[in-house]
Amino acid sequence: MSAASQIRADCAILCSVQQLGLPFGEAEAAARGPAEAGHPVAVAGAFYFVRHKRARRYLLRVDHDGRVRVTIPRGGSRREAEAFAGRSLKWIARQRARVTPPVLALDERRALRRRAEIELPPRLLTLAEAHGLTVPKVSVRNQRTRWGSCGRDGHICLNWRLIAMPESVRDYILIHELMHLRRLDHSPAYWRLVAAACPDYREARAWLRENGASLR
Ligand SMILES: [Zn+2]
Repeated sequence: MSAASQIRADCAILCSVQQLGLPFGEAEAAARGPAEAGHPVAVAGAFYFVRHKRARRYLLRVDHDGRVRVTIPRGGSRREAEAFAGRSLKWIARQRARVTPPVLALDERRALRRRAEIELPPRLLTLAEAHGLTVPKVSVRNQRTRWGSCGRDGHICLNWRLIAMPESVRDYILIHELMHLRRLDHSPAYWRLVAAACPDYREARAWLRENGASLR
């Protein structure tokens, strides 16, 4: 295996470990051309190359989204830049470990929250109808300490994190709040209502005890 293909293989492994997409080869092809003009080229891959006339040496920078910018100095070559990046894989991995997780987590949270706002209210209303209940108002919120709540006025608030739960657990929480439209307490009579509407509710509660913290 040549030095260059060894680097490509290493980077492909690094990319797949970090789940950031393209191995070297594809990123190169995408970055070629406009990169020569000295502008950063946004590619979907993990690496992109930028020529910089004033740069005195090869430089690496890990962006906030985890992609690696490799700066090629005046008189430098793509091959040298690759070799330089290849020698720096450990450094890159350390930098990425620092910047990537929160960024990805934030993106993921945004996407989940959008999905929650679209999917949770209709599901709540479907279950309400099935149990002969009317929900005056429903909101999806970023609650810190609760999965859901039901106000005296019947306003049901749902935590967007419900969207990341198994459906049976999510439905239990929806039914839990819906049954509060009948009884605004946690009396034995209330739990009988829950048990009638959601026979497996104990399993759902056990799941929440075990896994709930991981969703916070
Ligand atoms: Zn409750």
